[in-house]
Amino acid sequence: MKLSALGRMARRFPRAHLAVSAALGLTVVIMALAPESGESRPERTRTVALTESAPRPAPALKPQPAPPAPGRAQTAAEPVPREPEPDWVELTVQSGDTLSTLLQSHGVTAAQVHRLVTGDKQLAELANLRPGDSLNITVDDAGELTALSYHPSRIETVKAILEDDGRWRVENEKRQYQRRTRFAEATIDNSLFLAGHAAGMSDNLTMQLANIFGWDIDFVLDIRNGDRFRVLYEELYLDGEKVGEGNILAAEFWNQGRHLTAYRFQTRSGDTDYFDSQGRSMRKAFIRTPVAFSRISSRFNLGRKHPILNKVRAHRGIDYAAPSGTPIKSAGKGKVIFAGVKGGYGNVLILQHGQRYSTLYAHMRGFAKGIHVGSRVNQGQTIGYVGMSGLATGPHLHYEFRVDGVHRNPQTVELPKAESVTNNEKPQFLVQAKRMEAQMTLFAEAATLASSNVF
Ligand SMILES: [Zn+2]
Repeated sequence: MKLSALGRMARRFPRAHLAVSAALGLTVVIMALAPESGESRPERTRTVALTESAPRPAPALKPQPAPPAPGRAQTAAEPVPREPEPDWVELTVQSGDTLSTLLQSHGVTAAQVHRLVTGDKQLAELANLRPGDSLNITVDDAGELTALSYHPSRIETVKAILEDDGRWRVENEKRQYQRRTRFAEATIDNSLFLAGHAAGMSDNLTMQLANIFGWDIDFVLDIRNGDRFRVLYEELYLDGEKVGEGNILAAEFWNQGRHLTAYRFQTRSGDTDYFDSQGRSMRKAFIRTPVAFSRISSRFNLGRKHPILNKVRAHRGIDYAAPSGTPIKSAGKGKVIFAGVKGGYGNVLILQHGQRYSTLYAHMRGFAKGIHVGSRVNQGQTIGYVGMSGLATGPHLHYEFRVDGVHRNPQTVELPKAESVTNNEKPQFLVQAKRMEAQMTLFAEAATLASSNVF
């Protein structure tokens, strides 16, 4: 039955996208079969009678026993609700309505409305009702408002109940999304984003993927036809309806013969991050100073007078004076995006680190062996040597640090942390990573099987 569905997809989709489509089709099969993914099974318990006419019960967070029908005898088997459900009336806000006019049209006095909205901070938000919003109220025989509930968001309910002492008691309930695990894979034949689309991924999800691997892969320059990826991610559901995407749980990327993996993991400190199979952070930290045995000869100063040109010219970096020939280290793991001469800067090297960071090294005597545009460097690797090429009064390294293209003071800029999982956390991390890996393999094998059965 599923295979015939795939067959239909085969006719509907261009052949090139079929493997991906088959993988997506199969997601459903796996979800239904795998006992582990019980949490991801569609919820069958809630059928909300949204089509019923008013008055209807207040939207309940949990299925509640229906109020007993009038005149019907209670049997022992039927639990008697502790508080009888009041008669709720649903009001929908129309254009031009205010809370006052809406409630007053149902017999609630202005004084009561005032008492309600001043009774609690959360109830003050009722003033922000918009057309289309709805709220539920109960009014007693004397015409007094006794309870009210509304939804500030799709997953939140605020319920206010008038107590005997005349005060409003406010209850908050927040529903949890149901999370379902999904799988996508694609081979890139144009761009990462097109491949993501073909695999049924949203741009947001593809962006998450790019951010995770952004320290290792330049998604503009490094991607080659035939590169591919696999992603395990979450979808968020409410009442069986998809309302959004959650996080990527695990991902694999094959880039020009390199195989990279990343797993989401929450550390004991509560931070959630992505780590490779050994528990090392996917993000790469920086070292603060790229030359050892040096002293700062000129600081970051946007109003400095240039020592040679003798006019005000911002100093957008730090100068480290050091003997000519002192090795210069890469501040972080990255890729060479410029290696050559740049006017007064002399010999310059620019490194890109992930999507947001770049570092620049100027006045170098020369570059280290093997350093050229496109080469990858590790943190701390020697990339060149201190010199005084360009406009320089003595041998020093001029070092710049940019975040999103903006010069920042290398001495004070907040450097991204990239801590590995601790030794204490490692066993738990490895178990989780292994489980996610197995899940991805299962999905991928099933997808391959399905696509081979179609033809
Ligand atoms: Zn300088």
